Amino acid sequence: MWRWNKPEKPEAPAPEQAPQVQAAPAIYALTDALPDPALILAHNGWVLHANPGAAELLGQNPQGQHVSATIRAPVILDAVSRVLEGNGPLKVEFERRVPLPQHHEAWIAPILGHPDGPAILISLKDLTREQMIERMRADFVANASHELRTPLTALLGFIETLQGPARKDDSARDRFLDLMRVQGARMKRLIDDLLSLSRIEMNAHQRPEGRVELAALARHVADIMGPLATEQGVELNLDLTIGLSVHGDWDELTQVVQNLVENALKYANSGKKIDISTTRAAQSTELVVRDYGQGIAPEHLPRLTERFYRVSVQESRLRGGTGLGLAIVKHILNRHRARLLIASTPGEGSRFTIRFPELEN
Ligand code: ADP
Repeated sequence: MWRWNKPEKPEAPAPEQAPQVQAAPAIYALTDALPDPALILAHNGWVLHANPGAAELLGQNPQGQHVSATIRAPVILDAVSRVLEGNGPLKVEFERRVPLPQHHEAWIAPILGHPDGPAILISLKDLTREQMIERMRADFVANASHELRTPLTALLGFIETLQGPARKDDSARDRFLDLMRVQGARMKRLIDDLLSLSRIEMNAHQRPEGRVELAALARHVADIMGPLATEQGVELNLDLTIGLSVHGDWDELTQVVQNLVENALKYANSGKKIDISTTRAAQSTELVVRDYGQGIAPEHLPRLTERFYRVSVQESRLRGGTGLGLAIVKHILNRHRARLLIASTPGEGSRFTIRFPELEN
């Protein structure tokens, strides 16, 4: 019986040792119907059959090669030896580094009724995406907890001071209560944004049912944001093509455009001007929010819609940001099959374009 001895570089036995591969039995056809990559090995470790998924994963059809020349992972070869020695089906995990880092799980089981004698099934499952999602989830929980802990720690500090040194100091009490209100409001904004994100994620796979006229949407947001813009001395200009409609949820799209205008007022009010326009392009309908403020350096652009990503955490906090605004925008637009395109020139301002897929008029 073939035995794997963990050599540094696995050497495939000479080709003449390869068993004759018989006409494909039904088991090969069954393997071909499986969604995951699968290989069938002879008792001496030669590959009798590989399904299309395995051939794609390994970059070639390994049929007629020795398994050690095909999957260069000692843990798999060791498990194959153990299964051949009569140990029950085994599950092992292994990494492949080329062409891209990938994480797989292999299920290695004996096939007792194989016509060529005892054979082995290796079924592979790609865990790369699952692992990435798990890592993102863990990062998200850590970030959210950290963001909530900061204002909470400040609040507890103020309460201690009010119970201790500032107990009888009226003016200190008023000042501390004011600071506590600011921290409480920050926690509320963060929780509201987190709830928004989770609500949007729950509906992520349902297409919105309503119909939204983009010029009406832009005017609605301008009405909501007008007072704040006036307060900051910023002009809101509308350049609207009437009659452009998209499939969409009015409240969610209001939130999208409002987040973009809020950001323009938060980070780019030095430009004193914000343009909101709607246009019909070749295969799409667009709504653009353009500001003339500080702009964003190119290295930040690809990461702006990540949760909690901020160009400057300090500036975002100072202006009441949570780091979730653009993540919410991206999630809502995903549900609408729309895209967010961000273009910016430091010192000249930024352009946030919402591109809806098809013209629906
Ligand atoms: P925040 O709550 O911090 O505003 P967002 O997700 O809305 O979070 O935005 C992420 C970051 O993108 C902001 O912290 C800011 O650094 C940057 N940003 C967003 N919009 C603009 C803009 N119009 N001009 C300059 N920077 C912006």
